[in-house]
Amino acid sequence: MTAPAALAGKVALVTGASRGIGRAIAGALARQGASVYLGARDEARLAAAVKEIVADGGKASALSLDVSDRSSAQAAVETIVEAQGRLDHLVNNAGVTRDNLLLRMKPEEWDAVLATNLTGAFHCTRAALRPMLKQRYGRIVNITSVVGLTGNAGQANYAASKAGLIGFTKAVAREVASRSITVNAVAPGFIETDMTAAMDAEARDSMSGSIPLGRLGQPDDVAGVVAFLLSDAAAYVTGQVLAVDGGFHM
Ligand code: NAP
Repeated sequence: MTAPAALAGKVALVTGASRGIGRAIAGALARQGASVYLGARDEARLAAAVKEIVADGGKASALSLDVSDRSSAQAAVETIVEAQGRLDHLVNNAGVTRDNLLLRMKPEEWDAVLATNLTGAFHCTRAALRPMLKQRYGRIVNITSVVGLTGNAGQANYAASKAGLIGFTKAVAREVASRSITVNAVAPGFIETDMTAAMDAEARDSMSGSIPLGRLGQPDDVAGVVAFLLSDAAAYVTGQVLAVDGGFHM
């Protein structure tokens, strides 16, 4: 007897799903039976990601989305609710870096990172909570970073945005818990994606040397944990930050 797919019948929005961790999350949710909406700005990459998921037998659709734009976030959620009549899962994954030492950091570098990583999650969560509150059911996972827990030289903007996302997670978790909506955060360590591809071989070796599990992470390492937090198995977990970092920060 085959077990029923854990997320069958659920409708999910994953932001920043055209590549990297978001793409892996979208694939994992689709494999578990969810109808997945992939949001990002680059429509060609989104279309390619959707095509791959559908070719694997999943249900997936592309949504042109800029999370830093409130009306774009609102329109994305409205499109989903019009098509599906509900929205069960939101994964706030879209994120950017603009690294610089603080004294050299331009205000534009600060603003761009906060606008996407933190205000973007605010816009998407605010829009998604309306249908979730009506349904009296929802699951939200915010992708933060170990850097939001430890800090990192050259990433004051990024660390502030990710630490902010942790406070946001806990505050919203308390606000909506009475409606059976859970809000959790996942804090990846060093995961091999476009975001981390610029690091040279020596830096990568020294980084993996400080990871107890002895290797860099892959997008699927994060995707499985996100799928768990969205599943019924995690119904009694809210306001938590789960590090997926090979033991880097413990
Ligand atoms: P990535 O490969 O650079 O992918 C980022 C994704 O976000 C892309 O799909 C990008 O698509 C989308 N995006 C960027 N700005 C957006 C916006 N304004 N609106 C909508 N989508 C936007 O990054 P990643 O490594 O997969 O990271 C995913 C998340 O994990 C981020 O929040 C990141 O901070 C976090 N994280 C990553 C690591 C790591 O080691 N890789 C570690 C800890 C945390 P478009 O450019 O087409 O919009």
